[in-house]
Amino acid sequence: MEISAEKIWNNCLVFIKDNIQQQAYKTWFEPITPLKITDNSLSIQVPSKFFYEWLEEHYVKILKVALTRELGDEARLIYIIKMENTFGNKAPFTESIPSSNQARMNAQQVDAPLQAFSNELKNPFVIPGIRNLQIESQLNPNYNFENFLEGDSNRLARSAGMAVSNKPGGTSFNPLMIFGGVGLGKTHLAHAIGVEIKDKYPDKTVLYISAEKFTQQYIESVKKNTRNDFIHFYQVIDILIIDDVQFFSGKSGTQDVFFHIFNHLHQNGKQVIITSDKAPVDMQDIEQRLLSRFKWGLSAELQVPDLETRISILKNKLFRDGVTIDDNVLEYVAKNIKSNVRELEGAIISLIAQSSFNRVDIDLDLAKEIVNKFVKNTKREVSIDYIQKVVSEYFQMDVATLQSKTRKRHIVQARQLAMYFAKKFTKASLATIGTQIGKRDHATVLHACKTVDNLSFTDKQFRKYVEDLNQKLSL
Ligand code: ADP
Ligand code: MG
Repeated sequence: MEISAEKIWNNCLVFIKDNIQQQAYKTWFEPITPLKITDNSLSIQVPSKFFYEWLEEHYVKILKVALTRELGDEARLIYIIKMENTFGNKAPFTESIPSSNQARMNAQQVDAPLQAFSNELKNPFVIPGIRNLQIESQLNPNYNFENFLEGDSNRLARSAGMAVSNKPGGTSFNPLMIFGGVGLGKTHLAHAIGVEIKDKYPDKTVLYISAEKFTQQYIESVKKNTRNDFIHFYQVIDILIIDDVQFFSGKSGTQDVFFHIFNHLHQNGKQVIITSDKAPVDMQDIEQRLLSRFKWGLSAELQVPDLETRISILKNKLFRDGVTIDDNVLEYVAKNIKSNVRELEGAIISLIAQSSFNRVDIDLDLAKEIVNKFVKNTKREVSIDYIQKVVSEYFQMDVATLQSKTRKRHIVQARQLAMYFAKKFTKASLATIGTQIGKRDHATVLHACKTVDNLSFTDKQFRKYVEDLNQKLSL
């Protein structure tokens, strides 16, 4: 290392300190950390977006002079904005990120050539060069248009999404609201639009965020007194995708801040895409003024896909996974699982897993078995009663015997297994589990769980019980 970033920055600071008021120096320059120097670019870390804008607006000239003295005419300054400091979140934006991006995702980088800023800045949002603002988009590249299969159920939403991707902010579909039930592809389509825009317009700032995460960030920002930073951050985004806005229900603070961000973006021709599990008319506890905004653009529904679409979705998935399945098997699955795409995919995945696990062919019989379990399973909530029933059946006893006070070893074991699985598969407390399984107390349940753990280590036969039951209960 020839010259350290720290050294360069310290020299700049000496010069700056000499030329501005002490209070201003303390406020705006002391919190900066020099990070690195590459060629003639110095990277400095600033605590927030707002901070960056302030520096650009008030101190860009002096920064330029100071840096040029150190690095010559070609000097460049790169701001690194620490998002976690902005919102006070420990790990903001961690959703749906491939792990290879982990290192980058907490920072947005502003790569601002000093030249571009030498004029007085009036509106911080139209700074020339702001295009260089890079925000990790949080998009999942696996959710794209290519593998979002078209059908009657999604044609409108899909083509509106395409139109928006071609001309973000430039269609009357603003906002574009995608709504529909669970597992029908809202999240997938929302990502696909973002991915497509990023592909066509790499310079645009796209951000995907769940309404839940947005809410958390907002709450944090209020706590940390950085509400303005929060708003500023969202106002510079070109394409904002908010998933599951029904989550805003009853949260008036978040709705209020979103309303302002929305208006700002909309007025500036930025694209907003939202998804919801309900149509705007059916949304509850959402402020009227926000609902009316949602209705400005287009609301497009994702419906339950018809048989033909279900088949093509499955075929496509299998093709991409490199698996072949007989058409009649595939049709059987598609015919019998109709409520949503996520379940459809789930069924086919268990089918493949079962067949490779037990080394049997994927035939109609296996499909029937899986689909039966699947359909039953998705309707059933795993309850303590259900667990007792399965365990009793497995040991060929009735539930009353399992619950009885007897100390016969095999009955005690069955009871302990039931307790163990109740702990594993339900959210019930130890006390509740005890009460429901033969009126025992929580200490008994705790003891049962430990015993099962121990025995499955030491006793081969017992381990087999645990594995069998585990499979029965989790299928
Ligand atoms: P939602 O957000 O509406 O609950 P998702 O977008 O998470 O639903 O979709 C559930 C699953 O179904 C995802 O794996 C998604 O890829 C898949 N899926 C939904 N619709 C389609 C479609 N038209 N083509 C291909 N896959 C789809
Ligand atoms: Mg979703």
